[in-house]
Amino acid sequence: MIERARTGHGQRSDRDPSVRYTDPGWLNVADLVICRTSCGPGRRIELSVRGCDKRCPGCCNQDFQEHHPTTLISSGQVAAAIEQMVIRHDVSGLTVSGGEPLLQAGGLLPVLATARHVGLDIIVFTGMIYEEVLREGRQDRLELLGLLDVLIDGPFVQGMNTSFGLAGSANQRYLYLTDRLWPLRNEIEGKPKTRDYLLQEGMLKWAGYPLEGGRI
Ligand code: SF4
Repeated sequence: MIERARTGHGQRSDRDPSVRYTDPGWLNVADLVICRTSCGPGRRIELSVRGCDKRCPGCCNQDFQEHHPTTLISSGQVAAAIEQMVIRHDVSGLTVSGGEPLLQAGGLLPVLATARHVGLDIIVFTGMIYEEVLREGRQDRLELLGLLDVLIDGPFVQGMNTSFGLAGSANQRYLYLTDRLWPLRNEIEGKPKTRDYLLQEGMLKWAGYPLEGGRI
C-alpha cells in the first residue's frame, strides 16, 4: 500500500511542512500503472511524474504539466510498490514519463536503482535535449542517465506527430545508453501506437497515446 502525502496547491506537503517534491527522496506522482502494450516492449510499469515547464502545444499529458504536488510519495515507497508489482505482475521494464522526469531526478534515483536491482529495463522520456543535460552537469541528472537503457529526448512538436514508436513526434530521439534494448529497437521505434485501458481505484484510466482529437 502506498502512503500518500496529499497536499493542496502549495509547494509543500501537509505531512511534513519541510518537504518539497523536488527534494531528493520525494516524488510528485501522477500515476503508477501496469502497461501491457503501450509503454514499450513487454509488460511494463509506467511511472508518470507531475510537473513540466515546457508547455508544448498538443502535449498529450497536459494534466501532468502543473507543478501542484497533489500526491507526494517518498521514493522508498514508490520503490517498494515497484518491487511488489514485479512480483505480482511479471513485468520486465519500467517506463518513466511526465511531466518532466528530470525535474525530479533526485527523487527518481533510488526508484530507478531499485528497478535496476530487480532486473527491470528502464526507458525515460524527457523534454530536454540529452546534450543540454550533459552540458548542464547536474550530478543528480547525470547519475540518472547512468541508470537508463533508453532516453527519449526532446519536446513534443505538434505537426511532427508520428503514428508509430514510443516518441510522440519525429524530432524526438531514441538514445540507447546501454545495449540491453537495442535488439528490441524495432518494437520501440516502429510499432504502431497503442493504448492500455485500466480500471484503477474505481476509475477507468488509459495509458499510452490519445485517440485522434484528444482525450477519451
Ligand atoms: S516536455 Fe513532455 S510533458 Fe512537458 S509539455 Fe512537452 S510533451 Fe508535455
